[in-house]
Amino acid sequence: MIIKRRKSKVVKIDRIFLGGNHPVAIQSMTKVKASCVEATLKQIKELADAGCEIVRLAVKDNEDASAIKKIKDKSRLPIVADIHFDWRLALKAIDNGADKIRLNPGNIYKKEEIKSVVSAAKACGIPIRVGVNSGSIRNRRVNVDNMVNSALDYIKILEGLKFYNTVISLKASNILDTIDAYRKCSKLCDYPLHLGVTATGTPFGGAIKSSVALGALLLEGIGDTLRVSLTDNSLQEVLAAKAILSSLELRNFGPEIISCPTCGRCEVDLVKVVRDLENRLLTARASARSIKVAVMGCVVNGPGEAKEADIGIAFGKNEGLLFKHGKPVKKVKVKDCVKVLLKEMVS
Ligand code: SF4
Repeated sequence: MIIKRRKSKVVKIDRIFLGGNHPVAIQSMTKVKASCVEATLKQIKELADAGCEIVRLAVKDNEDASAIKKIKDKSRLPIVADIHFDWRLALKAIDNGADKIRLNPGNIYKKEEIKSVVSAAKACGIPIRVGVNSGSIRNRRVNVDNMVNSALDYIKILEGLKFYNTVISLKASNILDTIDAYRKCSKLCDYPLHLGVTATGTPFGGAIKSSVALGALLLEGIGDTLRVSLTDNSLQEVLAAKAILSSLELRNFGPEIISCPTCGRCEVDLVKVVRDLENRLLTARASARSIKVAVMGCVVNGPGEAKEADIGIAFGKNEGLLFKHGKPVKKVKVKDCVKVLLKEMVS
């Protein structure tokens, strides 16, 4: 099956392109105050190392907006300034080098204020995300149609100002509403869509909710960038986003591990082997090849899966049989298997 992407306008955020045929980009947020420059830069570096491509900072006051200048100087990622309530913070963020502004139609809605932000964004050639959130819809009942109308009414204002450098998001905490809102909006305009479910919760439940909602949309070709929101370290958001995109074969982030769930037949600590392999891959992934690696607990399905993968190992007692491109190669002791598999992946 091939996913046919929705045709959308192309928007540029520093060196990252969204929309058109450009890859679905991964974004996340820092979770410290932007004015704590060193802490912010540390998180940005961790996110960039993990594969994040765009980072958003909450800009709550003048100190945060001013800090963007220093952050920009050292950041490897384009910086998006997340603005609520005070349009003047958007002007200051733009003045200090923000690569994109997120405005919430629920709390920055006065025409004159929008006009000022638009002329500053136009002058610097940076895009604006119209970020609708079900938790901050203004003067309307919270439902899907009102979320979509809230975005489209804002777009009309921007277009009235001859501004088309726009991205849209429509985040609800309810998955069905999120899917419905993005589906409707995708048919009514051709701006790139930033996908996300808001307030999803803990890493386990949140990653599942995000995978269901964003997976359904991405399968329909909807979505040009995504953020998986989790009540946890942002690194987990990036890893979840990468897993969603690679499982749909929209992006490729190095080796895919296929491992069995284990059962009473398994005679090795397969959970530990797979965890070790995954952790070691996080650092080696940049140089790893995009291959399928099967790690299987016994001879029932092990040799079959291992043969189907590029590299595989099927365990017996204390050792496993290593397969390369469907052929058995050698026996490997459990204690050496992670090292051996990694060597095969990065060679
Ligand atoms: S491969 Fe073997 S150990 Fe793993 S789940 Fe299947 S039967 Fe159990």
